[in-house]
Amino acid sequence: MDKSGPILILGAGTFGLSTGYHLAKAGYSNITILEKSHTFPPPLSAGNDLNKIIRAEYEDPFYTDLALQAMAAWKSPLFSPYYHESGYLLTTSDAAPEKSKHSLAKSLLSISEHPAFKDKIIPIETREDIRKVAPVFTGPMHWRGYLNKFAGYSHAADALSATYSACCALGINIVLGEEAKSLIYNDTTCTGVNTVSGTSYASSLTILTLGASLGTLLPQVGRQITAKAWAVAHIQLTPTEAAKLKGIPVTYARDLGFFFEPDHRTNLLKICPSGAGYTNYTHIAGAESEPQVSVPPDDNDFIPERDEIMIRKLLQETLPELADRPLINRKICWCADTSDSEYVIDFVPGKKGVMVVGGDSGHAFKMLPVIGAWVKETVEAGRQEKDRWRWKNGSDASGEVSWRVGETTDLNSLHL
Ligand SMILES: Cc1cc2nc3c(=O)[nH]c(=O)nc-3n(C[C@H](O)[C@H](O)[C@H](O)COP(=O)(O)OP(=O)(O)OC[C@H]3O[C@@H](n4cnc5c(N)ncnc54)[C@H](O)[C@@H]3O)c2cc1C
Repeated sequence: MDKSGPILILGAGTFGLSTGYHLAKAGYSNITILEKSHTFPPPLSAGNDLNKIIRAEYEDPFYTDLALQAMAAWKSPLFSPYYHESGYLLTTSDAAPEKSKHSLAKSLLSISEHPAFKDKIIPIETREDIRKVAPVFTGPMHWRGYLNKFAGYSHAADALSATYSACCALGINIVLGEEAKSLIYNDTTCTGVNTVSGTSYASSLTILTLGASLGTLLPQVGRQITAKAWAVAHIQLTPTEAAKLKGIPVTYARDLGFFFEPDHRTNLLKICPSGAGYTNYTHIAGAESEPQVSVPPDDNDFIPERDEIMIRKLLQETLPELADRPLINRKICWCADTSDSEYVIDFVPGKKGVMVVGGDSGHAFKMLPVIGAWVKETVEAGRQEKDRWRWKNGSDASGEVSWRVGETTDLNSLHL
């Protein structure tokens, strides 16, 4: 592909910024990123968050290796200020479904014999084992699992902002407040984008990195990629309380949820409950005859009651003194799920000049430093060489993935 041809990237979230960054570094000189949000980091970006887990245990060694590449890149000058190797305590409670326990065992297997994790894994069999690695946890914790010391978290919003600045420094034109409305086609070739503001942008290649909103611009994606949301909330700690929790590992009880060391700047403790997530199936305006697509609603500033109950249970198990504290900054955070949990990095079938980079399935923030390199490879190859990342016609995001436990609920059926 001609490196001076106009490339449009739609969405300045995790995938969009990484894609722009890697293409620009490789010499592509005419890149524009359009982002719907007027502010950065975008409120709708799944990556705009206090923190995200960075870990390499996967049941599939393919992703373990990719995550290890990403973790090496998290230690590079651009990303290292935002990476904290605090460790990762992964457990299940006695009451956890067998599926969760099995999934944890497979995660452990993926790293226990891997040379990168030599002397980095501590088995957890009892409450005392947990207290040895996190002495501030005083709850009952009838949990089993392990501590992985070669893992941690990133300051997600800050890392996005650093990538944004790096993109600008490489000459990428990032336009905020510009919402892509429709793709422009000449026959089957995509030649650009119309935006809600009434502007048209021409392109020789358009890359859709719209996260959970992909279906609004490309209903053709159908249920291959489904917008799904999970709850997030914070607890405001005092400086003294936050200091007490400084250095705790990211703590994830698979059947309850996870939380992080408090944010150093704000003393906020972020906590997420487990679950199979929420959809929001709706008809896209102007496409009433099309099947419904799950898309994020306008209001995301709430969490369902059952998530609050689970958050409080997780706190009772670990930090009972916080279990009744007010939950603030409540929101549901949207990402893009696929049935097999594989990303989709591919050209849209039957069209030319348009690619989808998405289907993050809730596990792609850790790949921020490297994901754009895979997009660049695909652009240059003119096709996706890896079967697993191809567009999959007819796929439905309700398949069996071992770490997903429980039933997904549509928001329309929930009494909030
Ligand atoms: C609750 C939760 C917890 C998570 N925790 C982790 C974790 O611990 N570790 C991990 O690795 N991953 C985690 N993830 C997953 C991670 O956040 C996502 O994989 C990643 O952020 C997805 O990136 P994306 O670029 O596809 O989407 P986004 O980052 O959501 O970017 C999409 C962008 O497109 C923009 N946009 C939408 N519509 C338009 C339009 N029409 N025109 C222009 N712009 C538009 C949006 O504003 C947004 O900025 C989590 C996800 C969730 C939901």
